[in-house]
Amino acid sequence: MSIRRLPETLVNRIAAGEVVERPASALKELIENALDAGADTIAVTLRQGGLDGIAVTDNGHGIAQGEIALALERHATSKLPDEAIEQVRTLGFRGEALPSIGSVSRLTLSSRQPGADGWRLICDNGAIAPLVPCAMPAGTRVEVDGLFARVPARRKFLRSARSEYAACLDIVRRLAMARNDVSFVLEHDGRRVLSLPGGQDREDRVAQIIDRELADNHVIVALEREGVSLAGVASLPTFHRGSADHQYLFVNGRPVRDRLLVGAVRGAYADFIARDRHPVLALFLALPVEEVDVNVHPAKTEVRFRDPAFVRGMIVSGLRRALDEAGMRVANRPEA
Ligand code: ADP
Ligand code: MG
Repeated sequence: MSIRRLPETLVNRIAAGEVVERPASALKELIENALDAGADTIAVTLRQGGLDGIAVTDNGHGIAQGEIALALERHATSKLPDEAIEQVRTLGFRGEALPSIGSVSRLTLSSRQPGADGWRLICDNGAIAPLVPCAMPAGTRVEVDGLFARVPARRKFLRSARSEYAACLDIVRRLAMARNDVSFVLEHDGRRVLSLPGGQDREDRVAQIIDRELADNHVIVALEREGVSLAGVASLPTFHRGSADHQYLFVNGRPVRDRLLVGAVRGAYADFIARDRHPVLALFLALPVEEVDVNVHPAKTEVRFRDPAFVRGMIVSGLRRALDEAGMRVANRPEA
C-alpha cells in the first residue's frame, strides 16, 4: 500500500465531521462569520430544523469579488493577518467552516461590498461553479441546502427536524445574548420564532431570550479584578430550574461550555439552593486574550484558562457579592 495525499474535497469532508456535526453547528459558524463581518442585522431562516435548508443573511462588510472563491478554500481566512493565533479577537480564525460545509451540502455564497456589484458562488458537495453576478443588498448571504444529504453515513446520525431545530434555536439564543447590540430575526418553516431588536440592554436581551420573568427576579453581576471582568445577570435563588440548561456562559464574547464555570456557579449558589435545582443566568467573562486558549477544538466551544483557580474565584465572588447585595446572606460563610 502506498501513501498518497488526499484530494482537497476528501480532506474537507473529513474535517466537516468535526466542524459541522449537525445543522446547529453549521449555523453557528455562519452567524459567527456574520458577526466577524461587523453586521448589526442578522436574519436566519431554517427549513426542517436546518436539515433541508439554512440561510443566514447579514449586512456586514461583504467579500470582495476576487476573494469569494478563496473563502471556500481550506485554511483561507482574513482573520489572522499577522499569524498570532494567541491574539485572535474574532470568533472565527481557522478558515475551515465554509469549505467544510460546502463539501457536505449545496452551499450558495452571495456577497456584495458597499459600492460594488454583488456576486454569487455555488459549491455543490465540493464542486465549485464559476462566479456569477447577482443583485442584492450590501452584505453576505449564505444558504446551505441538504446538509449531509449526499453523506448517508452522516445523515443517519442526525436527529428529527424537531430536535435539530431545538439545537439551532439554542445557538441563535446564545449568540444573540452575547451580542445584544445586534438585531436577530429567526424564521423556521415560514414562521417567525424570534425577533430581537438591535441595541437592547443586556438585561432586557437576556430576559427576553431566557424568560421574561427573569426581569423581576435577577441580580446584576459586576466584578473587576486584575484586568479580568465579570458581568451578567443571575437569578435570585428563589428562581430556579430543574436543569442547568439555562446557564449561559460567555468568554470574551464567545458562548462556551465549560465544566469549571458550571462548577463555580454551583459553588456560589450552594448555600442557597437545593442540590437538584439550578439558577438561571448569563455570565460574561472578559479577560486578556493571552489568559485563555480558544483553539482547543474545531467547534471552539471549549476553552482553556491559564489560571483556572483565579477564574473560578472570580465567578464565585462575583455571584456571591451580587446575591449578598440582594440581601441573601449566610452566616460565617468563608470568603471566596
Ligand atoms: P474563518 O471564519 O475561520 O476565517 P470561514 O471558512 O468561516 O473561516 O470563512 C472564510 C472567510 O470567508 C472568512 O475569513 C471571511 O473573510 C469570509 N467570510 C465568510 N463569511 C463571511 C461573511 N458573512 N461576511 C464577510 N466575509 C465572510
Ligand atoms: Mg468562520
